[in-house]
Amino acid sequence: MRPKPFDQAAARARLLYDAETDSGPVAYWMHRDHRLRDNWGLLLAQQLALSLQAPLAVVHCLSPSFGQACLRQYAFLARGLPEIEAGLRRLNIPLIRLQGVPGVEVPKFLARAKVRVLAMDFDPGRIKQTWRREVLDSGLAKLWEVDSRNVVPAWMATDRKEYMARTFRPRIRRLLPEFLEEPAALQRHPYDWPLPEQGSAPADALAGLSLDAGVGEAPGPEPGEKAALRLLNEFLEQRLPRYADHANDPTCNAVSGLSAHLHFGQISSLRIALEVGRANAPTEAKDAFLEQLLVRRELAENYVLHEPDHDNLSGAPDWARRTLEDHRRDPREYVYSPEQFEAGATHDGLWNAAQAEMVNTGRMHGYMRMYWAKKILEWSASPEEALDVAFRLNDRYQLDGRDSNGVAGVMWSIAGVHDQGFKERPVYGKIRYMNAKGAARKFNVKAYIRAQLQDGRS
Ligand SMILES: Cc1cc2nc3c(=O)[nH]c(=O)nc-3n(C[C@H](O)[C@H](O)[C@H](O)COP(=O)(O)OP(=O)(O)OC[C@H]3O[C@@H](n4cnc5c(N)ncnc54)[C@H](O)[C@@H]3O)c2cc1C
Repeated sequence: MRPKPFDQAAARARLLYDAETDSGPVAYWMHRDHRLRDNWGLLLAQQLALSLQAPLAVVHCLSPSFGQACLRQYAFLARGLPEIEAGLRRLNIPLIRLQGVPGVEVPKFLARAKVRVLAMDFDPGRIKQTWRREVLDSGLAKLWEVDSRNVVPAWMATDRKEYMARTFRPRIRRLLPEFLEEPAALQRHPYDWPLPEQGSAPADALAGLSLDAGVGEAPGPEPGEKAALRLLNEFLEQRLPRYADHANDPTCNAVSGLSAHLHFGQISSLRIALEVGRANAPTEAKDAFLEQLLVRRELAENYVLHEPDHDNLSGAPDWARRTLEDHRRDPREYVYSPEQFEAGATHDGLWNAAQAEMVNTGRMHGYMRMYWAKKILEWSASPEEALDVAFRLNDRYQLDGRDSNGVAGVMWSIAGVHDQGFKERPVYGKIRYMNAKGAARKFNVKAYIRAQLQDGRS
């Protein structure tokens, strides 16, 4: 009989390639889920290594570029690595750090170390899919792909693109009881890694990379797995009880602030969901939070997985494409260039404050993200330009940018994805509209603007 940890991890895995190799070590390629705890890919790799009585290593390859990522995002990722390395050392598992294009460097490592089985993180994003194809094409090792990002593996939640949260919600809710389970712990690995493989990356993970330092490190939050757990505990005690009533108020600190750690996989949504379930908070607060963490977040992943055009207008629903086309030539009251948007130089103090929040802190409150993106549509020369500006700024400045959630968030705001048509109006057509008056009904707009301007000065 197979041990329980194997079955648990295998339930989140799929075999991509079955190589005929009968000796050699096992490796886990960590590229999305940067943590030791609640990491199904690492757990599966260890279970496979134990059953083969083989050594186990974790391989990590830092790519010299990644979309719009700058020093800000690279630093957040790199500062979490020493903690992972130390934790793995205690488990007798080396962390082999590489630097270079992962689709090239990982196959070279597989060949060098004669790896027999590789388990890797699942990620439907465009860049990661290219890396995956390159490693798969190398045919060097048996290859498993493991979904540790979603509670319900994205390929099991549903086999097609879901158009609305309304259709996705019942599917995910049906499967959640099966997947909301406490993962087994890793154990000290009994077989030593035999090779003198040290990895090619310098001790300082960022050395040797020519990163865009135009966007400096964010003032917070602290990166890493332990810091993520501390932030979670603080949220459970202090903010979760207020979530249902105040999550949409950017002046009221009621959200988790966990999205950067979630994005870099320094904490799992499974861990958060389990702890929220046990927390002492009103049921409506827990339900409101889990709707975002499980339904909206996994719906975003579903969109990226099943929609090849997830970052352009072809990925919009038919009604949205038609209505944006009908209003393409509508006169705009204001039209800003990408540079004016980036400089936060619009006529609207609320929009400029949101842009300042993102530039200065690496995050923007969720309510303001919607307003911010919708105004980019309203004040751009075309919907295509609006999408380009929103994606570029989001991915360049947000710590949690380049995420499936960001893709779905921008496409929801500008291109009607996962939404329905509303009353027709200029420029937007039937795309849902937001304005500053609506914001003022929800929260103290002046206090929000004041806070962002102060942050920029301090
Ligand atoms: C235009 C736009 C751009 C966005 N860009 C990003 C991005 O780059 N990266 C990113 O992670 N999220 C993005 N979002 C989604 C959402 O705004 C953020 O996840 C959230 O504000 C993060 O703050 P938090 O962790 O305090 O959220 P909380 O309210 O505490 O929620 C907990 C977690 O649930 C998930 N979540 C919350 N809201 C959403 C949502 N609407 N859709 C999907 N998942 C959600 C996130 O993982 C979040 O960390 C964007 C939304 C919009 C409208």
